[in-house]
Amino acid sequence: MQVINPATEEVVASVEATSLDETDAAIGRAAKAFTSWRALAPGDRARLLRRFAGLVDQHVDELAGLEVRNSGHTIGNARWEAGNVRDVLDYYAGAPERLTGRQIPVPGGLDVTFHEPLGVVGVIVPWNFPMPIAGWGFAPALAAGNAVVLKPAELTPLTAIRLGELALEAGIPEGVFTVLPGKGSVVGQRFVTHPAVRKVCFTGSTEVGKQIMAGCADQVKRVTLELGGKSANLVFADADLEAAAAAAPGGVFDNAGQDCCARSRILVQSSVYERFLELLEPAVREFRVADPADESAQMGPLISARQRDGVAAYVDGAEVAFRGSCPDGRGFWYPPTVLAARSTADRAWREEIFGPVVSVLAFSDEAEAVAMANDTEYGLSGSIWTRDVSRAIRVARGVEAGNLSVNSHSSVRYWTPFGGMKQSGLGRELGPDALASFTDVKNVFISTTP
Ligand code: NAP
Ligand code: MG
Repeated sequence: MQVINPATEEVVASVEATSLDETDAAIGRAAKAFTSWRALAPGDRARLLRRFAGLVDQHVDELAGLEVRNSGHTIGNARWEAGNVRDVLDYYAGAPERLTGRQIPVPGGLDVTFHEPLGVVGVIVPWNFPMPIAGWGFAPALAAGNAVVLKPAELTPLTAIRLGELALEAGIPEGVFTVLPGKGSVVGQRFVTHPAVRKVCFTGSTEVGKQIMAGCADQVKRVTLELGGKSANLVFADADLEAAAAAAPGGVFDNAGQDCCARSRILVQSSVYERFLELLEPAVREFRVADPADESAQMGPLISARQRDGVAAYVDGAEVAFRGSCPDGRGFWYPPTVLAARSTADRAWREEIFGPVVSVLAFSDEAEAVAMANDTEYGLSGSIWTRDVSRAIRVARGVEAGNLSVNSHSSVRYWTPFGGMKQSGLGRELGPDALASFTDVKNVFISTTP
């Protein structure tokens, strides 16, 4: 597999794709390694994870540089992403000694529960956030005592491969965490069908996510799904419009819009619609699309020519309100683009574009805003801009999405839960509860009858 720098179209590296036989062999080794990993004293497992976090910390710049070249992420974002892997590892390194069960009062004996690890967990990662999404799967899975096999996206395997090396260097035993670059249809599919893989943690398209869920049903295999989104950015007339307009480009164009949380539908109350667009236009034009290695870049290229062509197809025939600029020449560039939607039936309004394109529409009142926000099969994130606290709470409770922010576009903190409602996903990652999804509860009754 040739790895391409999306900013230059140059070949960065070439990576051997794991075959089906090699995948089976790796899963076999993981199943074996699981036995001793789960038996390790909790404090020792914690120490190894902390060492792994420490090594990631020492390699933040190297990992970030790799991501800039492989994925076209801006250097600022890439550093955050590598730091996020470190933080997630550190956070879940606190878990092994705290994975406590319960003691439940029963007559005639003692009843206790255990959070048992599942076995081998298969993590399937997309190309849009190769490092964080990998870490959100492998860190809690390992902390709970599972072995992990991880398949990065074909387009972006480099940082995952490096993280696998760092894990070994940290002393995590061979077979406990294995990175298997390769095809989704080969390696990823095998995670679904191999009986020793007891859970699949998948992030990617809703289409493939549904196939994974259906495939896992055959063995009642556990799944976590983080899928697509079409999130709403609701701007009420009583909002700080300057702040809302200044933040809107970052809320959708960050990572070139290749973000499942991208606020790709802006809904503005009709009384301030014109004013908001006047404020938004300069913010979009000033959004700096440049060589992602440049410290001042706010956005880099798209991941591939295919992705860029797919994004452009949504804009063909749509009404462009205004747009920013981007470098020309080699690289998969596309300018930040704002579409004036004609109606909620527009394809660009309804479908996940996964690129730097946002559609804008007006709403009349709060009830219509919530109804429009919910008029989608997705439910991942969303933002609410208002100065009225009661309205903020009402609307946040009304919008059917897993991650909402008020007067901000922030969705992700490693210590708070993240995940989707409706067809945006199943289960939650990060935060205090993610650990439970990598375990099964076992109940044990011990008779005290003499
Ligand atoms: P995708 O096909 O869902 O890929 C995600 C991951 O699943 C990749 O590692 C992929 O491997 C693997 N995969 C593909 N087919 C599989 C199968 N049958 N069994 C097991 N694993 C499989 O996503 P994509 O094609 O890269 O992107 C398509 C669209 O999905 C995007 O344009 C975007 O709309 C959406 N998307 C959403 C997210 C998100 O975070 N929610 C992330 C990425 C994409 P390969 O690398 O071999 O394909
Ligand atoms: Mg695909």
